Amino acid sequence: MRSTKDYIEIAEKYGAHNYHPLDVVIEKGEGVWVWDVEGKKYLDMLSAYSALNQGHRHPKIIEALVEQASLLTLTSRAFHNNVLGDFLKKLAELAGYDKVLPMNTGAEAVETALKAARKWGYLKKKVPENKAEIIVCANNFHGRTITIISFSTEDQYKYGFGPFTPGFKVIPYDDPDALENAITENTVAFMFEPVQGEGGVIVPHEGYYKKVREITKKHNVLLIADEIQTGFGRTGKMFAVWHEDVRPDIIVVGKALGGGVYPVSGIIADDEIMDVFTPGDHGSTFGGNPLAARVGMAALDVLIEEKLPDRAYELGEYFMDRLRKIQSPYVKEVRGKGLLIGVEIKKEYGTARPYCEKLRDLGILAKETHEQVIRFAPPLVISKEEIDWALERIEKVLTEGI
Ligand SMILES: *Cc1c(COP(=O)(O)O)cnc(C)c1O
Repeated sequence: MRSTKDYIEIAEKYGAHNYHPLDVVIEKGEGVWVWDVEGKKYLDMLSAYSALNQGHRHPKIIEALVEQASLLTLTSRAFHNNVLGDFLKKLAELAGYDKVLPMNTGAEAVETALKAARKWGYLKKKVPENKAEIIVCANNFHGRTITIISFSTEDQYKYGFGPFTPGFKVIPYDDPDALENAITENTVAFMFEPVQGEGGVIVPHEGYYKKVREITKKHNVLLIADEIQTGFGRTGKMFAVWHEDVRPDIIVVGKALGGGVYPVSGIIADDEIMDVFTPGDHGSTFGGNPLAARVGMAALDVLIEEKLPDRAYELGEYFMDRLRKIQSPYVKEVRGKGLLIGVEIKKEYGTARPYCEKLRDLGILAKETHEQVIRFAPPLVISKEEIDWALERIEKVLTEGI
């Protein structure tokens, strides 16, 4: 019998050390639960950074995956396949836009949005060649490519990876005046996260989405919402910007679009933006493959049929309310939107990591983000009883300490 230690050792020996996972080796998952190689059961409260909104191995999504896998998996975009169109239609109609451009990972979708915005700037806004500027926020997380880390404000994400891509301007998050001041005649887009997930679950003031929409509209600047983590019900609406009835020019999606089984991402926009792309401009060998398309459709069906956004809203309010009532000397703040919740640990009591390790010992998998914050983001299929089960254990850790 191989132990947890054996599995970790082999992965550490043969894998690059670009992650620092918790010491738990998972071999099976179902719904909100996972089991490790020693048979111990845990409640998954990370959901693979919100890629598992529909839960582990949702039967409907697995059925779609298996059925499609037995028919056709990949053609490349050199040929058509009979699934892609229906998938694009479903996603475009759900979001309320003309078109979708499919990719695989979140970072690729962000790159696609940046390319679309720049080209729109040159063709439609008539910005002089190579002068396009894109405004982003401090403390952002949009992925790991060289262009994307070029505008990260996290030293570790950048150190050793230069030279960087020019053309980006960083302003403080949740600061509409800073946006207005940063815009020039060469600004083509403003890209932001409706809630900064990796940045420590930072929720902007109410009205922020509306304000950035007004400002960008006034200056003919595209508004790009990176909803890779906040989208598909996580914050209590299908898209987080819908909390303020805001319609960005481009929505970037990924993570839960793949239903927790397959990488599926893309950008959603109207023809005015999408038609800057012509054959040969941009592409991806796997983007829009029939397996991805079929899984993506099933992932969306589950969100809609099971009303997961509403569920996230109601259970998120309940969960946050109960968390705030815990009398903890260690907690600085509880914040969040829907089922994207952060519990910030006071600096004088150390980092969030040992609290996550204690939670793991009690059967809850959560991961620290930004040193001080424990993120709670369970699959949206979680029940109130399961949240109560978790709360009992969380309360123990937050009152007794580590
Ligand atoms: C996870 C994430 C990304 C990057 O997605 P990958 O699939 O890891 O490339 C980009 N933006 C946000 C907001 C994310 O949470």
